[in-house]
Amino acid sequence: MANAEIGVIGGSGFYSFLDDVTEIMVDTPYGPPSDSLFLGDIAGRTVAFLPRHGRAHHLPPHRINYRANLWALRSVGVRQVLGPCAVGGLRPEYGPGTLLIPDQLVDRTQSRVQTFYDGEPLPDGSTPNVVHLAFADPYCPAGRQAAAAAARGRDWEPVDGGTLCVIEGPRFSTRAESRWYAGQGWSVVGMTGHPEAVLARELELCYTSMTLVTDLDAGAEQGEGVSHEEVLRVFGKNVGRLREVLFDAVSALPATEERACACGTALDGLDPGIRLP
Ligand SMILES: [Zn+2]
Repeated sequence: MANAEIGVIGGSGFYSFLDDVTEIMVDTPYGPPSDSLFLGDIAGRTVAFLPRHGRAHHLPPHRINYRANLWALRSVGVRQVLGPCAVGGLRPEYGPGTLLIPDQLVDRTQSRVQTFYDGEPLPDGSTPNVVHLAFADPYCPAGRQAAAAAARGRDWEPVDGGTLCVIEGPRFSTRAESRWYAGQGWSVVGMTGHPEAVLARELELCYTSMTLVTDLDAGAEQGEGVSHEEVLRVFGKNVGRLREVLFDAVSALPATEERACACGTALDGLDPGIRLP
């Protein structure tokens, strides 16, 4: 089995810019992940790319098998994950092209399984115990720092901190919903940031969210509201520099055994009852 130390869950465009990509299929107790893993090398670091929506972008946010995605990454050796995603800005100053690295999230999803430890026996017969994980600070502080420094190194001053509100989708927000989110002081709104972060924490992985604002959400602008075409246009315009920042962030992450954050010991004192890959 090939190995990778760092995982990137993102758009299909990222792995295609690497030389010598190895594609491997990984099965998990939760079924197949969104796609194959694409293993490559960035500045001497081994990386596994996973297209979150599948390479043909056929999976809507609520149909993504988040558990399989995180389990598959961990099973090939990944211990640190970067999760770029497109979001809407909830404040006029967070316009298209803003890179925001959140330090908090609010879960407004409805249908998603957000734990590996849900009492259902796995196919191998093991039964998970109930696990109540600390999640006050959902993101890895070291990963956030690496991502922010990488952006600054490319002359792209990020918004360092803020709250990502994750909605169920696939529809965009109504104007009233959007104004309500903004009124709470939340920063950006997306559809895939949850449950990625909490599932990563349950597997003792470092997880860092990097959000690219593609539009102002319905409550923050005066026009017709968000369109899918506009999201794609702005994302396409910024995907090149986001890739550069991602690659720099990958090379700035600490070695697995040199991590100083608490992510790798999140299960200490808890007994998950199932064997992590
Ligand atoms: Zn960490």
